[in-house]
Amino acid sequence: MTEKIYFTTTLPYANSVPHVGHAIEFFQADAYARYFRKKWGSDNVFFNVGIDENGQKVLTTARDAGKDPQAFVDELAVQWKDFCAKFSISNDYFYRTSQSYHHEGARYVWTLSDQKGDIYKKNYSGLYCVGCESFLLEKDLVDGKCPHHGVEPQRQSEENYFFRLSKYRERLLEDLQKNPHFVQPSSKTAELANFIREMDDISISRNRQNLPWGIEVPGDPSQVIYVWFDALTNYINVLGFHGDKKRFNEFWPGVQFCGPDNLRFQGAIWQGMLASVGAAPTKKLLVHGMIFGPDGQKMSKSLGNVVSPLDQYDKFGADTVRFYMLAVLPTYSDCSYKETELVESYNVHLANNYGNLISRVLHMSSTDGIHLEDHRTFDPLFAEKCMEHVRAAQKNYEGFDLSAAAKNISELLTYGNKYIHDNEPWKKTGVEKEKILSNAYFLLNRATELYEPIIPDKARQAKTILQKQVKEILFPRLK
Ligand SMILES: [Zn+2]
Repeated sequence: MTEKIYFTTTLPYANSVPHVGHAIEFFQADAYARYFRKKWGSDNVFFNVGIDENGQKVLTTARDAGKDPQAFVDELAVQWKDFCAKFSISNDYFYRTSQSYHHEGARYVWTLSDQKGDIYKKNYSGLYCVGCESFLLEKDLVDGKCPHHGVEPQRQSEENYFFRLSKYRERLLEDLQKNPHFVQPSSKTAELANFIREMDDISISRNRQNLPWGIEVPGDPSQVIYVWFDALTNYINVLGFHGDKKRFNEFWPGVQFCGPDNLRFQGAIWQGMLASVGAAPTKKLLVHGMIFGPDGQKMSKSLGNVVSPLDQYDKFGADTVRFYMLAVLPTYSDCSYKETELVESYNVHLANNYGNLISRVLHMSSTDGIHLEDHRTFDPLFAEKCMEHVRAAQKNYEGFDLSAAAKNISELLTYGNKYIHDNEPWKKTGVEKEKILSNAYFLLNRATELYEPIIPDKARQAKTILQKQVKEILFPRLK
């Protein structure tokens, strides 16, 4: 049987344009989707991205902008799709939670969970942070304020529906024990286990009077489904959980991406919901790091250290930004976004190492009219040495360690440049020269294939110029 794999990012809130935290998540998911499409064929990979359009925060932002919430999210959806297009995100689907297919899917999950006896009604009074779209506990507050938003939460009292999350505590802890590599990096496992041990039943609806923008609770028009609960269901709805079960069974469980602040929702609450509706737990949860400003501080308007991915795109182009964020920034730990580092790493790896080797080889072959053919190597030892690097990169792609894979590709190219340097083809002629260039050409084709998931547009251009053997500067040095 052919293997199938499903990747999904979280759905960012549709109350603003993408920031670097969204960018790294979309880029990472895109790179793996591209890698596995190449390995298993595009029919066997499904890649979902989208936006979360319900909830108080979206409603408030829309009202502040003097817009109808649907019109507001429609405009934002266009901007997010434009972001995806600019950065060559190869998503198979763009999910929107204000659309009817999502409403149906979310209500289906609710109904299943209700039938299981996992939903009950009770009066609840708590401290609600609109920024977080969740109730906070006194102990979580810093000086009476939400630690994430620096705003005092509002005391809200409502009769709401609750989800029996606590029922699944033991089951989730067992799952985590059985599958210790569920979360990547594994350093997050202990944190997740703590979340699970502490998890209590959660409120999963709001009074419609307080929140008129959302999905109606099945059988109770006075309540709308809590935004987290409805949004999380997208991961399985998109595969046809409430319709085409065949497709769902082919692709689920999938690989999910999230940021560190989302671990509790994706790793604990969502897994409890899956258990409730009888679906398998997520296959893997890949938790990327936080990206701080160049000063090492959390990005904020007041500090003036915000880096916008769209500004970076205008300044450097998609692949240079992708390369920096995927190959240079660590895949899993917190880091700072520094333009100086972006420029330097581009020059070192793409201009001097990769671009330089392409130029050298194509220059020498075209000068002598040598026709190079891929998969034609004249030195089995050389080929084997190349393949060691190739296999190392493949292993890291498949182990979801992008920056390590990128390092392997760079080492392959360094090996190629050294090979040219040591063998001095410019001093040679005829068959001898042709052999050296053919070997380097073989290496360049392998490196180009491996780079495709990270820098798709440049890799496609490289492939073309390698095939046509034309001299073209692909990676002009940046100043
Ligand atoms: Zn908050």
